[in-house]
Amino acid sequence: MIAKRIPVLFENEEECCACGACENICPAQAISFCENESGFLYPKIDEEKCISCKNCVKVCAFKNKTVKNSPLAVYAAIAKDESIRKKSASGGVFTALAEKIIKDGGIAAGVVMDENFNIHHSFISNADDLKKIQNSKYAQSSTRKTFSQTKDFLERGKTVLYSGTPCQIDGLLSFLKKDYNNLITADIICHGVPGNKMFSDYVSSLKKDGEVSEFVFREKKLGWGINAVANINGKKRKLWNSASPYLYYFTKGVIYRENCYKCKYADSHRPADLSLGDYWGIERQHPEYLDKKDWNEAKGISLVIANTKKGVEFLNSAQNEIELKPSSFEKASHSNAQLRHPSERLNRDEIISVYKSGGWSAVENHFKRNIGLKRYKSRVKSLIPKTIKRKLKAKM
Ligand SMILES: Cc1cc2nc3c(=O)[nH]c(=O)nc-3n(C[C@H](O)[C@H](O)[C@H](O)COP(=O)(O)OP(=O)(O)OC[C@H]3O[C@@H](n4cnc5c(N)ncnc54)[C@H](O)[C@@H]3O)c2cc1C
Repeated sequence: MIAKRIPVLFENEEECCACGACENICPAQAISFCENESGFLYPKIDEEKCISCKNCVKVCAFKNKTVKNSPLAVYAAIAKDESIRKKSASGGVFTALAEKIIKDGGIAAGVVMDENFNIHHSFISNADDLKKIQNSKYAQSSTRKTFSQTKDFLERGKTVLYSGTPCQIDGLLSFLKKDYNNLITADIICHGVPGNKMFSDYVSSLKKDGEVSEFVFREKKLGWGINAVANINGKKRKLWNSASPYLYYFTKGVIYRENCYKCKYADSHRPADLSLGDYWGIERQHPEYLDKKDWNEAKGISLVIANTKKGVEFLNSAQNEIELKPSSFEKASHSNAQLRHPSERLNRDEIISVYKSGGWSAVENHFKRNIGLKRYKSRVKSLIPKTIKRKLKAKM
């Protein structure tokens, strides 16, 4: 009997982003995702079930050249509906566009966080449920079977607005194989994703102080920035990125998936019709746009890039929902490093190996020893008046 040739999905960890295209395309349902030792998801082939069709390898956006666009129009933007913007990560553009799609009879796909703090893609067809996919969830989302489901919706004539990281959008497009007129894609400008396991472990560590009923990244009441609020025993605890080990290591970029450090989408060539992000640095690039009312930075301002003709047309059709002000890629990418190059690895190996060997509590201890204490010392130092500092120096 001839031995089965089992396809090799990746040789090393930087060759897979876990977009899910391989799992979705497999006709034998032989592929599933499992966590590696550091809690990142990787596909595994069930050799018994595999029929060696190699569809999984053919669909992989890492193994194949993928279509890339260039920016056709770049904007600073806000959702016109103030209540949307309040609950959104940036200027609320995604949710405002999703609301339009649903109003017109379509469906929106985005990322939800369930009651067990699992982060995954889901479809929303009722505008009242949009809050579930609103706001950023700073860990990797599992796309599950949403690529196959998207295809079903599209084939049935439904319009779908699908959002995700650029690698997820590339995976979706590669899976679909053809350009559907009724599909609009939005890739989120993304500096990298930690594994969902690490995020769940972090939330579990908060449980020592009581029941955690909710965790919200980017709470606008704390301003437009990277922060979070956890509801612990009915009380809201503010988590600033300098004091929360998870947010600190996330913003420093040291807990991402291996492939994020070689992200091929971290430039002006993006896979989706639209790219959405924060317009960081707008106060320097477009001070003329800002005011104390709607274009108030504290409320969050989006960066929107239209990469395709379809993207431009969709934005033009959404003038009732969003307000756009012209910008350029050069200006927009100035304070958004992710549009110029992938995140730097820095001390990723150190933190991930601490996590692998000692779990989340070891990462927390590492943070307290190396970061928390240093910050505390420099804060105390900054509070000592200069005259006393000089006297102390003279005595030493
Ligand atoms: C891991 C991560 C890293 C990011 N890094 C940057 C960055 O470096 N620079 C920058 O300008 N912007 C970054 N963003 C994007 C930013 O945080 C906002 O998500 C984006 O500006 C959209 O804001 P909004 O107000 O239009 O969307 P909202 O109305 O708040 O809707 C949220 C949108 O984000 C999507 N989303 C949420 N969580 C995830 C996730 N885990 N994976 C994929 N999609 C998700 C939802 O599906 C939805 O489309 C990042 C987002 C994530 C999730």
